[in-house]
Amino acid sequence: MTTTLDRSAVQSSNNVWQMAQSQLDDVARLIGLNADVHAYLREPKRVLEVSIPVRMDTGAFQMFRGWRVQHNMSRGPAKGGIRFHPDVSLDEIKALAMWMTWKCALANIPFGGAKGGVICNPKAMSMQELEHLTRRFTSEISIIIGPEKDIPAPDVYTTPQIMAWIMDTFSMQHGYSIPGVVTGKPISIGGSLGRDKATARGCMFVVDEAMRVLDLPIEGARVAVQGFGNAGLHAAALMSAAGYRIVAASDSQGGVANPNGLDVRGLISHKTETGSVTGFSGGERISNKELLECDCDVLVPAALEKVITAENAARIKAKIVAEAANGPTLPEADRILFDRGIMVLPDILANAGGVTVSYFEWVQDLQENFWEESEINERLKKKMVRSFHETRAEAERYKVDLRHGAYAVAVGRVAEATSVRGLYP
Ligand code: NAD
Repeated sequence: MTTTLDRSAVQSSNNVWQMAQSQLDDVARLIGLNADVHAYLREPKRVLEVSIPVRMDTGAFQMFRGWRVQHNMSRGPAKGGIRFHPDVSLDEIKALAMWMTWKCALANIPFGGAKGGVICNPKAMSMQELEHLTRRFTSEISIIIGPEKDIPAPDVYTTPQIMAWIMDTFSMQHGYSIPGVVTGKPISIGGSLGRDKATARGCMFVVDEAMRVLDLPIEGARVAVQGFGNAGLHAAALMSAAGYRIVAASDSQGGVANPNGLDVRGLISHKTETGSVTGFSGGERISNKELLECDCDVLVPAALEKVITAENAARIKAKIVAEAANGPTLPEADRILFDRGIMVLPDILANAGGVTVSYFEWVQDLQENFWEESEINERLKKKMVRSFHETRAEAERYKVDLRHGAYAVAVGRVAEATSVRGLYP
């Protein structure tokens, strides 16, 4: 397969917002996107910056800064997580909001894209301080969120408990319970069964399809997982139970490998007890760098952005790279992997299971009717498999990699909705 893309257009940049815009420009050229619609989609619809005053436990007064960005709402209410992190920036939130628009469109769920963030260090804050911060932030952004407008969810360092405070604050302001304002909630207040494992399960479903397409047997296929948190741990557990052999796993402190297969249950217990996968007796210690380049059939980056680069892409041995993490592969690395015939399942496809089950949660909340977990997993599988084949069809049509195929589907859908709605006023 050859590529028809002018890939030089996508510059690797430390500015993720420029990178996100550049990705859109690239796909706009590929699909011949109308220039007006392209200009429209290059910018967020709405950016709200808020100041958040908090009384800390010491009695001191502290100001925090936060944002909610809504990128596009042509296909429905905006959807996207809230990130609490010391390094959050407006540009990062704008990029993540744009990526949410494409992810929801590719999954074909009736949402646009949004993201929120607060500059703070939750690891250094007490539960009470976090609660005060969350409630005041929710109050400040309550003018633009709501079940019909914009539905937040968890992201880095935000938890089901934080979602519960968001739901409660919004509900208190309105005088009645409004569970549909946020997803990723605890089950007891309208959360969905299966949400915790949804990202990993969705990722496994698309890997299963890729294995079939490449005519590779699932039983015994060797998998390396970078990152052992929500996405990575559950991916290792589910894939191991499905017959894959997990040959390496890692977290921020390093990794562990065993070519005969790790005992994943034992590894999870070890991680739970010690806080890390390192030191697990059932394998040899390896570094995160070595994990990426280890002998395996499927590599699942499930930790950070920008880990597969022009420097290491030529040494990756996997036949499939499944991006459970957001943005793990740089554009230059994408080109190298594509030229080497390695199938990259892009993030907006491979990790869409989380937002898909968030959509199911919202639907259940609105209907006040909750589904069995088996039904949720079945519906998730249908959506993931369909997205995989739609992505593949577009990639073949344009003779490009799956990332550009996925973007072609997603941007095409958003462009169509934006055009058909027309320009107001
Ligand atoms: P998490 O915080 O639960 O887990 C992150 C894991 O990465 C931890 O095990 C941590 O130790 C590890 N890690 C941190 N630094 C590392 C490093 N330098 N090298 C190797 N491992 C390192 O986070 P998560 O929810 O699992 O998210 C991981 C990725 O998946 C992120 O990119 C996130 O945006 C993406 N994602 C998650 C979901 C979801 O539903 N959780 C949905 C979509 C995308």
